[in-house]
Parts: sequence; structure tokens; C-alpha cells
Amino acid sequence: MKIGFIGLGNMGGPMAANLAKAGHDVTGFDMADVSIEGVAMADSGAGAATGADVVITMLPNGQILRAVADEIIPAMTAGAAFVDCSTVDVDSARTVADQATQASLLPVDAPVSGGIGGAAGGTLTFMAGGSADAFAKADPLFDIMGQKAVHCGDAGAGQAAKICNNMILGVTMIATCEAFSLADKLGLDRQKMFDVVSTSSGYSWTMNAYCPAPGVGPQSPADNDYQPGFASELMLKDLRLSQQAADSADADTPMGQVATALYEQFVENENGLGTDFSAMLPRFEKRGRG
Ligand code: NAD
Repeated sequence: MKIGFIGLGNMGGPMAANLAKAGHDVTGFDMADVSIEGVAMADSGAGAATGADVVITMLPNGQILRAVADEIIPAMTAGAAFVDCSTVDVDSARTVADQATQASLLPVDAPVSGGIGGAAGGTLTFMAGGSADAFAKADPLFDIMGQKAVHCGDAGAGQAAKICNNMILGVTMIATCEAFSLADKLGLDRQKMFDVVSTSSGYSWTMNAYCPAPGVGPQSPADNDYQPGFASELMLKDLRLSQQAADSADADTPMGQVATALYEQFVENENGLGTDFSAMLPRFEKRGRG
């Protein structure tokens, strides 16, 4: 397939490289001066999109996605798929999908889970929104860049799945960290706490697979001085998107709201920027109740 790939950063770069390695004809564009093995570079987004069977975008936010969509949609060939893998707000995803559909394109919103390691290793999970035809066109590429793709529903459903999942993740990480901090103050050994909770009704992915306590549970960023992993500011981005969506859909999400406020405080005022999102544990440790 002839593929245009726009946004070749930490995630997009290795994803585009994997498509090229699998034998596809990939033309890329990024605002920054980057070069990716096997990927020819165009000098604009429209240049990368022209004549492509599938255009993939992997961009920082919805505002940038909308600007790139305005530029590339008129350059794309009718029947081509427009696959946005960025994490953006649901409203931007739906607006861009409408615009693409009107131009006889096949839009898919397909944010990912799995981070930079997943992008490099081709083991991402894609959660996709769009028509069955659009999903079918993109699916073989998801197979190369990832290990699982779930067709979640119509336009915006992929972004909805992503922010709901990550709202659970943010809330659960905070609950796990505050429980460890309480356990410390009650004199309960962390390993014993893990042994009980990981096999009891308090278990979760954050406890069992990504334990925030160093030296406890499987290897995790806590064992590497809280280097990310999944950075606190990216957690904050996704939590904010969840609250923006909750506002526009009139959904009551009190825990999501508190988690957003806590990560905001952590990232903006408490040196959380650049740390893994599990560094909430040392944050709680330093604090008392007042
Ligand atoms: P990044 O900042 O490394 O990459 C974004 C790239 O887009 C940059 O190279 C930038 O130069 C380019 N860009 C910006 N505006 C552009 C434009 N108008 N035209 C062309 N290129 C443009 O970010 P990333 O970590 O690769 O993340 C990309 C997306 O993936 C984000 O939406 C992020 O939320 C999501 N995501 C990231 C992770 C992660 O662990 N990094 C995990 C899951 C999802």
C-alpha cells in the first residue's frame, strides 16, 4: 500500500518505520526535521497525503489534527482511508471524520495504548471508531503496528474508549498509591500489602502489573527511580480529555475530576513533570492529612 504518515515523533516515527519494514511504500512529513529508516520524506502534509491509499496522523492534540486535516483532505484521493492515531478530544475526532466523509474518504479514529515501547516493538493496541469499510481498510496496518485492534463503533468511539480506559487508570493509580501510603503509616509491610491486595478484591492493573512501590511486584518504573514509562503529564492530558468529554456529554465523573485536579497539581506545582505517573506514591508519602 502507498501510505502517507504525518507526525513522526516518539510514537509516529517507529510506527512509520514498522510499516516501511513490512514492505509498504511510506512517505512521511513532520514539522521537525526528522529522518526515519525506510520512509521517504515529503515537504508538506499535503505532499505526503497525495496519492496515498491510507494516510495516518500521529499528532500532539485536536487543534493540530484539525489544522492538518484542513490541509490534507483536499489533497487525498476519494476512497482513501484517513486514520488518526493521535489521542485527541472526541469533538475534534468527530468533526474531522465528518469532513473526511464529505470528501468521500474513509475516516478512522484509532488512538493507541502501549506507549513508546509498543510503538517500537509493533505491539500497540488500537481502539478504533469509524465505518466497517474504513476499519477493514486500516486493519492490516494495525496488524503490523500492533498486536490487537478493537473496532469500538462509529466515529469518535476509539477516542471515547481511550479516555474512559485512561480515566480508570488515573483514578486507580491514585487509589493504589494512597493505599500504600496509608499502609506505610499503619506499619504494614509493602510486600505483605502487595501479597494480599494483588490476590484480593483490591487488585488492579496498577497494583498487579505496574506496582508503584519500588522492589515490590513485577519490574515497573518505580524500580527505575520513576523514570517514565507513562509520564505524569501524558496522564494529565488524557484525564483532561476525559473531563472535557464528560462536560460536553453531561456525565457525572467525580473521581475523574479529582484525579485530574491531583495530576494537575502534581505536574504543575510539585515537580511531577517528567516523572512516571506512579510517582504519585512518593508524593503521598511526603504528605500528612492537613
Ligand atoms: P511527539 O511530540 O513526540 O510527536 C508529535 C510529532 O508531531 C512531533 O514530531 C511534531 O513535530 C509533529 N507535528 C506537530 N505539528 C505538526 C504538523 N502541523 N504537521 C506535521 N507534524 C507535526 O508526541 P508522541 O509521544 O509521538 O505522541 C503522539 C500522540 O500519541 C499524542 O496524541 C499522544 O497523546 C499519543 N500517545 C502517546 C503515547 C506515549 O507514550 N508517548 C502513548 C499513547 C498515545
